[in-house]
Amino acid sequence: MLLPELRAQVCKLHMELPRYNLVAWTSGNVSGRDPETGLVVIKPSGIKFEDLTPENMVVVDVNANIVEGDYKASSDTASHCYIYRHMPQVNGVVHTHSRYATAFSVVGRSIPCVTTAMGDEFGGEIPCGGFCLIGGEEIGQIVVETLKDSRSPSCLLQNHGVFALGDSAEHAVKAAVMTEDNAAIVWTASQLGEILPIAQSDIDKLYDRYQNVYGQ
Ligand SMILES: [Zn+2]
Repeated sequence: MLLPELRAQVCKLHMELPRYNLVAWTSGNVSGRDPETGLVVIKPSGIKFEDLTPENMVVVDVNANIVEGDYKASSDTASHCYIYRHMPQVNGVVHTHSRYATAFSVVGRSIPCVTTAMGDEFGGEIPCGGFCLIGGEEIGQIVVETLKDSRSPSCLLQNHGVFALGDSAEHAVKAAVMTEDNAAIVWTASQLGEILPIAQSDIDKLYDRYQNVYGQ
């Protein structure tokens, strides 16, 4: 079996999506790219989260052709692969319809950067890309276009949901979790009163400290 470790990792990371309340039923998916072979491990289509195993993950090449697997790959596979082909630094992609973030997408609104934690992680707003139908690689095109000049590791897709990226599948899941957390905070704050902005110069300092200094 190809890529046993990445299969196990991507399978385990799928369990984080229901754990953090980011998905309903079978929606949502995670993929990871093996930097050495360029092969991508992704969720099989339409399988419930509790039935996912490392063995039923699907391995595809970067053009979305199945290399190994007994199931059809996720219906978002072509978009994941488009992102991998156009963003060499990305080795993990997560897609969810998490509630608060998707609510922002339904009104076509970016999530503003108005907490220090969001300055740390995102370095600016989480932008909202345009609308398109699922199935092909159009979603991937919108994600690449929306994030190419952004420090944010995630973006919204109008009327649809969230795509989050990372240098690993684990970091992409973290970005998906933080995206929903920030969306919930901004929505809650907007019910309380006027949202106070953070100056871009301060966002820049937060981002720089967290990305370059913080941690072990
Ligand atoms: Zn979707």
